[in-house]
This record gives sequence, C-alpha cells and structure tokens, in this order.
Amino acid sequence: MSALKRFFVEKVGKTTTLSGEEFEHAKNVLRLGVGAEVILLDNSGKEYTAVVSAVGKKEMLLNLVREDACEREPKTPIALAFGYLKNADKNEFIVQKAVELGVSKLVCFSSEYSSAYMNGNKLERLNKVSKEAAKQCLRAVAPEVEYAENLPKALESLSGFKNKLFACEFAEKSGAEISSISGSTAIVIGSEGGFSRAEEELAHTKGFASVSLGKRILRAETAAVALTAVVAFALGELGEK
Ligand code: SAM
Repeated sequence: MSALKRFFVEKVGKTTTLSGEEFEHAKNVLRLGVGAEVILLDNSGKEYTAVVSAVGKKEMLLNLVREDACEREPKTPIALAFGYLKNADKNEFIVQKAVELGVSKLVCFSSEYSSAYMNGNKLERLNKVSKEAAKQCLRAVAPEVEYAENLPKALESLSGFKNKLFACEFAEKSGAEISSISGSTAIVIGSEGGFSRAEEELAHTKGFASVSLGKRILRAETAAVALTAVVAFALGELGEK
C-alpha cells in the first residue's frame, strides 16, 4: 500500500488550511477531495494524519486525526556544507542526496576558488528540492538550505558540532577516524575549484580535521554524497530499520 501523500505547512492545528503550491498539487495533480487522508508536516519532526474536510478554489481545510513521532528522522545531527557549484543540477543533486541520507543542516557557501554565485531564487529552489526529497524518503523534516557568503561564515555556522570534517583533496592523510566516529558531525566539501592551503589552515584553527577520500580527485558532488554516506553509516543512521 503506497504511503499517504505528505504536505508541508507552517503549523498544524485541530483544523489546518492547505494553500499555495501544496494546495494546487493536492487538488489539481493528486485530485484529493473531501475525506482523503494525508500526512501534514510542520518540520517539528512529527507526522500529523489529517482528513480533508472542505475544498475551495484556493485552499482546502483538513481536520487533525492524530499525531505521531516520525521514526525516520536522524538520531544524530549531521551537517553538510558544500561549495556552491556552477551547475545548478549538481547543487540540487547534493541537497537531494543529503536529505535522503539524513542530514539535519545544509549550508552552501562561496569560497576563494568559487566561480558560481548565489541569489534568492537559486536558494529558494534548493529549499524546494529539500522539501521534495524529505517527502519522497518519508522524513518529517526538510532541512533548511542556508547560504554563507564565505568559508569563515560557513565554518562558524558549524561550530556547535562535535566532529568537524574538512574534506581536502590535498590532505596527505585523514585527521579523523571516521569509522569510530560518534556524536554530531559536520562535513565540509569544496566547490569545483577546491580549497586553498590558507582555507585548510583556517579550518584547522576552527577545530576541523582534514579528511582524505583517497588518491583520486572526486567531483564535488561525488565527495559530498560519499562522505555523508560514510559518516551516516558510521553513526548508525543507515543501519537496520
Ligand atoms: N580543484 C581540486 C583539484 O583539481 O585538485 C578539486 C576539487 S574537488 C573537485 C571538490 C571537493 O571535493 C574538494 O574541495 C574536496 O572537498 C572534495 N574532494 C575531492 N576529492 C577528494 C579527495 N581525494 N580527498 C578529500 N576530498 C576530496
């Protein structure tokens, strides 16, 4: 039996109004009518089962049936910060895979060798990708994609994480034993242009350990997904059901 359709709303109450794009999708694409049962999500980590009670031209009303904790949210926070890439599809790919792998915090940043620039529409698009990915993998939270205008600001936004991993293509060896890692973990991946030596040194002053992903130079999107998956597995986030 396919899972109930999922919709993000600002806040869930006894009666909740679905409007905007989520309403259009529910009414015009999914053809949901009165009596249809859906899951409402408000990024609290809970899943709210609700039934459509009225359908208007621009919104629909839903009555709350019950709320449950979502068992697919990660137990250990993982953050992924990645250098914003020239190819928009690749940024979306990184966001989509990170959400599926259970990342709780997403930051894209510009750095010394960046050659792509962010704007409001692009950031909004990445947040839409996060929502769609969260719905698809049955999570209850769509991590917000934040933008940091430079690497120092990106590193600062990760200061609260216990483990700080800086994937560095010129690192001789890894300064962290990933297989035995535990606790909240932040991962930093460079853009196509990679990092400068000065950026690696800055990361070290902020408590980041350089991590090598081997002798091959991986594409940024490969490195982002690979390291996130390895960390998620080591933290038990990709384990048994
Ligand atoms: N400009 C760099 C070069 O040509 O050597 C390549 C940067 S790579 C395309 C993008 C990012 O992926 C790097 O900044 C790093 O974060 C990560 N990465 C790629 N290969 C890696 C490796 N072998 N070890 C650690 N990180 C790697």
